[in-house]
This record gives sequence, structure tokens and C-alpha cells, in this order.
Amino acid sequence: MRKLVLINPHPVGNVGEENVSVLNQMPVNLGYLKVLTPKHWQVDIIDETQEPAIDGDSGDITFGGADLVGITSVSYQAHRAYQIATACRKRGIPVIMGGIHATSYPEEVAKYVDCVVTREAITLWERVITDFEKGALQKRYEGELTPMGLYNSIRSDREYLKNKYHYRYSGIITTAGCPFGCEFCSVPQFQGKKYRERPIEDVLDELESIKGQYRGLILTDENFYGHSRKSNERVRDLFKGMVERGIYQNWFGFTSLNIYKDDETLEYMVKSGCVGVLIGIESINEETLKTMNKNVNLRITIEKYFEAIANIRKHGLAVWGTMVFGNDADTPETFRQVADFVLGSRVDIMTCGILCPFINTPLYKRLNSDHRLIRTNFPEDWKYYTSHHLTYILKSMPLQEFIDGFQYLYDKIYTTEVLRQRFQNAREVLGKSNMNAAMFAFRVNLDWQNVYQHLLQNLKELQASGYYDEMVKRYNQSVKSGKKVDLTPAEIIP
Ligand code: SF4
Repeated sequence: MRKLVLINPHPVGNVGEENVSVLNQMPVNLGYLKVLTPKHWQVDIIDETQEPAIDGDSGDITFGGADLVGITSVSYQAHRAYQIATACRKRGIPVIMGGIHATSYPEEVAKYVDCVVTREAITLWERVITDFEKGALQKRYEGELTPMGLYNSIRSDREYLKNKYHYRYSGIITTAGCPFGCEFCSVPQFQGKKYRERPIEDVLDELESIKGQYRGLILTDENFYGHSRKSNERVRDLFKGMVERGIYQNWFGFTSLNIYKDDETLEYMVKSGCVGVLIGIESINEETLKTMNKNVNLRITIEKYFEAIANIRKHGLAVWGTMVFGNDADTPETFRQVADFVLGSRVDIMTCGILCPFINTPLYKRLNSDHRLIRTNFPEDWKYYTSHHLTYILKSMPLQEFIDGFQYLYDKIYTTEVLRQRFQNAREVLGKSNMNAAMFAFRVNLDWQNVYQHLLQNLKELQASGYYDEMVKRYNQSVKSGKKVDLTPAEIIP
């Protein structure tokens, strides 16, 4: 029997979103590829957040061997993915790589693997395997956007994953794509700009099939609400269907803030087990939102944020906001405003990070063409492309003020004492109807406290190394001379 190993890589030592327990879920995408692989193959999945695929000392693979290896990767995982690919190829094992990084930068990926699959591998996996069996594996396959009907006929092999790693959380896809064009976001690039929906009954059937098996479930949709009146009705029917079919499940998902006006949907959400909604607030500075092209938030207006948060909380749902710093319009004052906003609005969770120029997004292209990127020693430097590393020259404040701003935020909203006080408020407001939501918020806050401490540490190390100052010096020289130069020639990479 032939053996296929599918791998989700994890850079050693990275502390980020994956350290938030509710976000550390099984790689459902690899579970789909497993079931699409012909039955005469033995398929194993290795999730490196659980165990390494290569040995730290020898650099050799840990899984004995395989006939074929498939690796998925977003950019910050890419360097690790290449290390795994190199170890496999040393053993003569051919490697296929797909995912967001392969879709965004197939030319680089092609240097490290035998075959690159762009877009969504699920759309052509059977063909890839058939070609491999015939000895005719191509160097490149262009996948497509997954037709939503496909999820009707296949189910990810969650059972295998759960048995192997005992995950407590899983995810489900109910929609894909996003028509908005936020400057920093790679979703439209990878999933397309058309908002695509799965039939409700199909989603309900899938939910029913995994009912009660997980402590929590995440709707992996980028934004399940606010696209059109029709789509809002559809999602209301979905939650209503969960209630009618008795599919009670602790769950949370990503939505836009404008859900706050829809009391009926919020009611069905809480009745179906929802503990919270994750909302990309990104900034409370209107100028920043304009630069980000975050029109979905501008339409609501910042003045309404308080009312929106209060109304969602009133229903017993935790509001989990995300915010990023480092935009050109941010100033040291921005950090103070955000701390006041978090405490004043009583938002339950606020995960603050650094604006990240993900590969080939409009933000990446802008900073690259301005020669402001300081981490361009690729592929090693991909590991910095997360929301807890600074990868470009700040425009409106020196690094020290940026660090001071993050430290200020920590002292104001993330110390254990403050988190306890915020939990107290969550118990009082959310706990009236949904104590699970209050517990959920506290858990995420504690996890994020740890991630945030690493973010601060990363910034301090960057400053102590002198590397950032050197980059700024070079940047200023190049601006003065009118000659734009690459800031990071190999000899000064630490
Ligand atoms: S940040 Fe959200 S709303 Fe903006 S493009 Fe990405 S998925 Fe769409």
C-alpha cells in the first residue's frame, strides 16, 4: 500500500494565534485531502503544532518514510515547510506544496518542491494523485475556487485527526470569499471576491454529524454577516435551523460589526450555543481605516462602535475585537485612545497586534515599492510575517515610541489584574444569559496575554539588535539621495 503524509508545518518557537487554545484546531483542510485520496493509499496527517515532522538535531524526517508528501503553508510557515521538503527530498520522497503561500508565490515554492498546487487543492486532488500514480506528476497545478456544493458530497476526516491528536476544537466551512478589499488582507486573493454560500441543509447535516464531539467549533468563514439582505436572512435561517434541530454547540465565528442591529439573528445565535463573535475592528482612527480601505467599518462609523458592542453583549455574546498598529496614520496617542476604547466599551476580548504586510496584498506591494520592508531575506524571513513582528519601517513614530505604546496597552488592558476585572464585568453582563461566553472570553484573554508578551519581547529584541536603526539609517539615506535601494542586503542580516 502506498503511503501519503500530509503536513501542517509550524516554525519552531513561534508563539502566535496558534497559542490561543480556541484557535488551535485540527487542520480540517488536510482532512479533506485525506478523504479525496484513493482508498488504496494509507494517509497520515502530521500537525506540527502537536509533533515535529523533522528532527531538531538530525534534520531528518520523524515519520519513517512515505511515497509522497503534501505540505500546506501560509507565508510564516513557508521556511519551515521548505526545511521539511528538503528533508523529504533527501530521502527521495517527492513533495507537493499548496496553500496560500504557494498560491501567492509559486515561483519561490517551485524551487523547494516537486509540484506546486495553487488555489484550493481540494478541487483537483484526485487528478494530482492519479498523475503521480502514472508517473506523470506535473510541476504545477492551477486549482480553482471550491464549488460550495462539493462539501455536500465529502466530509473532512475529523475522526482520524481527533483520534490522533485529541483536538478539543474543530472548524466548519459555511461560506467562502470576500467582496471587500481591505489593504492588508489576503482572503480575496486566495478565496476570491465572490461571497459563496453552502446550502443551509448541508451545513446543518454536517453540524449534526459532529454534534457534541468538540468542546468548541469555529465557523471558519471570513465574515458570515453583512454581505446583503439575502445573505443575512440565509445565515439567520442557519442558526434558526440549529435551534430547531437541537444542534446546540459552543461556537464562535467572524462577522462584521453591523450584525448588532439584527436582534433576531443574535437571539438565534445565542440559542444555538454561540459564545462570541470575532470582529475585525482594526482601528478606531478614521484616517487609518481609510488607508486600510476598511470600508465595511467606515460605513458603521466609529461613534456607533460603543452601541454596537453593547447590543451584541446584551444578547449574551462575547465581542472579540482585533486591532492592529503600525499604520502610517497611527501615532503614540493611538495606543492611549485604544486603551480608553477597550475599557470604555467593555469589549470582552481585544487582541492587538502589529499590522502585517502579507505577501502580495496591496499593503505588501505599497511598502515594497516604497522600499520600507526590513525583512526581505527570503525565505528565512517569512517567519516574521505575522502580527507579532514588525517587518517594515514605521512612518509616524520611532520604534521606541511604538514599543512604549504596546507596553502602555499591556499595562492598561492585559495585566492579570485587569483581565480579572474585565472577567468580572463579562460575568455580570454576559453571564446573565450565557456564562459560557464569559468563560470563553477569559480563556482567550489569558492566552492572548501570553502571545502579547512575546510580541513585546520581539519588539524589544529588534530594538536591542540595532537592526531596525540600521534599516532606518539606510532608508533615510536612500530617500535623501533620491535613489531607492534594497534595505536588507545579505551582509547585514543578523
Ligand atoms: S479583512 Fe475581512 S472584510 Fe476585509 S477583505 Fe479581509 S475578509 Fe474581507
